[in-house]
Amino acid sequence: ARSTRQWQEADSAHFMHPFTDHAGLARKGARIITRAENIYLWDSEGHKILDAMSGLWCVNVGYGQQALIDAAARQMKELPFYNAFFQTSTPPAIQLAELLAEVTPPQFSKVFFTSSGSEGNDTVVRMVRHYWASLGQPERQVIIGRKNGYHGSTMAGASLGGMSGMHAQGGLPIPGIVHIEQPHWFELGRGQSREDFGLTAARWLEAKILEIGPEKVAAFIGEPVQGAGGVIVPPSTYWPEIQRICDRYGILLVSDEVICGFGRTGQWFGCETMGTKPDLMTFAKGVTSGYIPLGGVMVSDKVAKVLIEQGGEFNHGFTYSGHPTACAVAVANIRLIQQLNLVNHVRQNIGPQLAAGFASLEDHPLVGETQTCGMMGALQLVKDKASGQPFDPALEVGMLCRAHCFGNGLIMRAVGDRMIVAPPLVMSRDQVDEMMALIRHCLDLSLSELKT
Ligand code: PLP
Repeated sequence: ARSTRQWQEADSAHFMHPFTDHAGLARKGARIITRAENIYLWDSEGHKILDAMSGLWCVNVGYGQQALIDAAARQMKELPFYNAFFQTSTPPAIQLAELLAEVTPPQFSKVFFTSSGSEGNDTVVRMVRHYWASLGQPERQVIIGRKNGYHGSTMAGASLGGMSGMHAQGGLPIPGIVHIEQPHWFELGRGQSREDFGLTAARWLEAKILEIGPEKVAAFIGEPVQGAGGVIVPPSTYWPEIQRICDRYGILLVSDEVICGFGRTGQWFGCETMGTKPDLMTFAKGVTSGYIPLGGVMVSDKVAKVLIEQGGEFNHGFTYSGHPTACAVAVANIRLIQQLNLVNHVRQNIGPQLAAGFASLEDHPLVGETQTCGMMGALQLVKDKASGQPFDPALEVGMLCRAHCFGNGLIMRAVGDRMIVAPPLVMSRDQVDEMMALIRHCLDLSLSELKT
């Protein structure tokens, strides 16, 4: 076996990591993660780490689930791969399509498979434009997304997203994609009640539609809860008003469920928690609990009917659309979520416990705001609690806190000075307590470091 140092040297020499400052990484060396079980990871030095991010928002059923491992092994032996291009299909892809129709909201009975969330959102861009063209309205091209939203890293995915750092590289956004502000009360709405601000933020969509001309707008896309943007839980008034506006102007509503899907918010899908009825829904991550890559687009009957009856052949697809091994793992994963009753476990048990735990951190001198939704949570770190004044960004307080977490056996993510968690949905109540104690300890360590 190689030593940690040897792994790190080879990593630096050959592996370009996503979203990573490589000069910084080379100085410190990557942390080498070697195995995992349940909600814990172990690194090459033998440290045990509580994974409060479920990998990257995906390992909903936790690590080491034998049913998923067996499903992959069985399918690889029987038929590891076959495509769906030649008017061919495979049992696992058909079973998964059937199961998705069962667990998604009633307007959905069809799915288009991809390998990732980014590919799903790319598919949406082509699909909604093709939908409107099929209805004889090819001028409906514009898709509205949100600043700081994240919809992936492909050209269209990163364009739909509103991350300024991504738009600054590679000539984004692509034409026909525009953005409105996010429903981030703590940053943009503190003069108003949360409910009033929710309506204000939703009406930015209406203003944008009227500015462009409703006859040119194809769709609006959003994450029910903005995840990578910092777990921004919108006020309860926000999504119903967005739905009203989309209905009023006949604009397709796309829910990006890549993070919020498969139980994360305490319902099967985030749109159910937020009270919307999307026309299209993208998913990935939790569909296989991250054990194998898979994503897709749920297509509502309304959209599918037009595409099938008027759209002709949709010239779009991936080698791995409906990959049998990935689909077999997804079927096993969804059945496990059902058997373990994980959606109810989040809604009735650990979700409320996480909410109470985060609320109890509001007494901490560093914490300006806490928000949770199901098993997603955010802590906004501030310099001054009373006024909500932020720290100087140059201090990188979020990264400082993240380093204390890493050093003390906890993975939390920092988005600027917002600390976020999205732990596995299989967590027990004792494990939520264990995580909350670690979080408080790491906040205390961060506070002492900032004072010195
Ligand atoms: N959409 C959302 C909401 C996401 O959080 C992500 C990834 O984090 C994506 C899309 C992109 O998915 P992928 O990384 O599988 O391409």
